[in-house]
Amino acid sequence: MKAANYRGAKQIGIGESVAIPPGPGEVRLSVAYCGICGTDMHIYHGHMDQRVSLPQTIGHEVSAVVSELGDGVETVQVGDKVAVRPLMFGEAVSFDKGHAHVGKNLKFIGIDLPGGMQSSWTVPAYTLHKLPEGMPLSHGALVEPAAVAVHDVRLGKVRAGETCVVIGGGPIGLLIALVAKVKGARVVLSEVNESRLEFATKLGIEGVNPMRQNVVEKVSELTDGAMADCVFEVSGSAPGAEIMTELPNVRGRIVMVAIHPEPRPVNLFKFFWSEIQLIGVRLYEECDFDEAIELMGEGKLPLDQLITEIAPIEAVQATFEKIDANPDGIKYLIQCG
Ligand SMILES: [Zn+2]
Repeated sequence: MKAANYRGAKQIGIGESVAIPPGPGEVRLSVAYCGICGTDMHIYHGHMDQRVSLPQTIGHEVSAVVSELGDGVETVQVGDKVAVRPLMFGEAVSFDKGHAHVGKNLKFIGIDLPGGMQSSWTVPAYTLHKLPEGMPLSHGALVEPAAVAVHDVRLGKVRAGETCVVIGGGPIGLLIALVAKVKGARVVLSEVNESRLEFATKLGIEGVNPMRQNVVEKVSELTDGAMADCVFEVSGSAPGAEIMTELPNVRGRIVMVAIHPEPRPVNLFKFFWSEIQLIGVRLYEECDFDEAIELMGEGKLPLDQLITEIAPIEAVQATFEKIDANPDGIKYLIQCG
């Protein structure tokens, strides 16, 4: 029964995972796998120390098996395989307008509250989504990032036959590209890392490296001047914010996925001239988890290929160090059970 605890910049220690008996409406899980996310890397680097109390069990990309039910829980049974939507909504307020996933009292489980990178984890039953019987639990740990991509593509209103450009080919950028392709869109990925580009090409995504090619010219060439109907900014970089307005066509959409840590210069004239729309996206809603599980269950996402490595929880510190040293990797999972 182990837990991966963040103990300060670049230190993830192994502690005890204490089995907390589930209260009313709660469920205790035996965690199988927990993916390492960009957010976990931010925590690891000490960038979120104001928000994370020490020591904190981190992790929010979890697959698990239900092992104990609190009073009144009827939505799952002991033994069910589940993924966790790690959001605690708190008290509902009217001005959230029903969007509690970005609402006033939202707490993110795994940042604001203890996370799932541990053997035993107690969470509200409403956070659980059942996995199909045949789905490997390792794939189940990818439901959370896949739900991010489903949410972003849904709010970007991507339709079949459209052209999308994804700026930034990390795990989320790749998943957005893959989900947009499932929707019938043509996808061009802009990514500076050659091996990630190569990987994307193997998955059937057209790639362009902005360090070697002019992305605007390349997209123009690929689309006979039509440019993109929808652009996803996933890089979080100043060049990404600069180029994003050069890519959409008339009434095109820009979907802001990345967390930009500071204000960026953006060419606002483009919004006026071509009636471009900017759409902010964050996290996911219940329906996004359902759709992600459906797509994954139908085999529409190349999940095995997205998993770079599965490491035992004892190796969590070494795995974080490895991710830092290897920008080519896609998704690393920690085996918690
Ligand atoms: Zn994440």
